[in-house]
Amino acid sequence: MALAYDVIVAGVGSMGAATCMSLAQRGARVLGLEQFDIPHRMGAHHGHSRMVRQAYFEHPDYVPLLRHAMQYWQRLHDASDLPILRRTGGLYMGRPDGAIVSGSAAASRTHGLDHELLDRKALAERYPQFHVPQDFAALYESAAGIVFPEHAVSAQVDQALRCGAEIRAREAVVDWSPNGAGVEVRTDRNTYSARQVIFTAGAWTGRLVRDLTVPLTVTRQTLVWLWPAATEPFEPANCPVWLIEIEPDTGYYGMPLLQHPPGIKMALHRAGETVDPDHVCREVSEDELRPLLDFAAKYLPDASGPVLSSQVCLYTHSPDSHFIIDRHPGYPQVFLACGFSGHGFKFCGVVGEALADFALIGRTELPVHFLHAGRFT
Ligand SMILES: Cc1cc2nc3c(=O)[nH]c(=O)nc-3n(C[C@H](O)[C@H](O)[C@H](O)COP(=O)(O)OP(=O)(O)OC[C@H]3O[C@@H](n4cnc5c(N)ncnc54)[C@H](O)[C@@H]3O)c2cc1C
Repeated sequence: MALAYDVIVAGVGSMGAATCMSLAQRGARVLGLEQFDIPHRMGAHHGHSRMVRQAYFEHPDYVPLLRHAMQYWQRLHDASDLPILRRTGGLYMGRPDGAIVSGSAAASRTHGLDHELLDRKALAERYPQFHVPQDFAALYESAAGIVFPEHAVSAQVDQALRCGAEIRAREAVVDWSPNGAGVEVRTDRNTYSARQVIFTAGAWTGRLVRDLTVPLTVTRQTLVWLWPAATEPFEPANCPVWLIEIEPDTGYYGMPLLQHPPGIKMALHRAGETVDPDHVCREVSEDELRPLLDFAAKYLPDASGPVLSSQVCLYTHSPDSHFIIDRHPGYPQVFLACGFSGHGFKFCGVVGEALADFALIGRTELPVHFLHAGRFT
């Protein structure tokens, strides 16, 4: 039987958009299926900005992927009418032996990344807008910056379509089954067949990909935009993207003052309440905002000011907070990328290329093997 597509990509969000583009640019017959609009605000790719960093405190093994990823964002930016990437530098603050400062330093040393270590005095002189405790230090890297996620998803889908991909939005995958060496994918409108399927379904992966023995947890995360009491210290020329580890496992992060949406974005990078992705409260209450506002008042007092907007977004955690990018252990025609654990957006391009390699040639030279699913068994 002739199969209509080489590859079906289930979920056209952050990773799915990049995967569709990579496959289509390589001449594959691709069908991308997305349950909502492209882009949308129900999953993990909204909120107008994502931090991109290379001095990766999470694990030095990500750094080679990040080098590819930064080049990818620059190429997409250069090829696009929309701004995709803005380099601002990155400033990571905390106790010198804490995960953020010591982990960023270890990744920088291991991979020879350009970076500067700042003691508390140097930090106060260079970045007086941050009021951190006396025993804090910082690591600064010039390569960091911001990727604009809605623009990035849009630009990649635009490229995929121009290269011949079929992309169907507002069409949900409801089931799939192996069909000989290929696969059959059923949606709420149709049934499609392909040689392979790639699941890039974010928070919905757990319910869609059966026989995946890795538990994925979805959490509700809140974001806020504040209008600062003083604008000058937070203009992008004066303020890098930043992280502050106030205690182990509790880090806040934020962006400089941007125009769209107006204000300084900040958020807590720690697992929020566990939720069902189809039943998420999208309103942010005053009580939920309080810890963020208290944090701002203490650590960035000049950033404190009226709340201009807030949003809810979803993290999908793997058990060890590292990604899963692999062939399905039980089905050779199925690939997946999931469990991005709140830090995946910066990798979209490289994940898309690795998945396209897997689907088209069965292996990849990109160093993603430490992210294999088998590590949990
Ligand atoms: C508040 C917040 C801040 C973040 N900040 C950063 C940051 O600064 N830097 C960084 O690198 N990362 C950051 N992240 C993490 C990053 O955004 C995510 O890791 C990444 O977006 C995950 O991509 P994804 O493709 O898995 O999910 P998504 O982008 O949500 O894509 C999954 C898609 O699959 C679709 N889908 C699911 N089920 C089906 C189905 N049955 N049929 C059809 N379509 C389906 C969904 O609708 C969705 O569009 C942040 C995340 C959040 C929530």
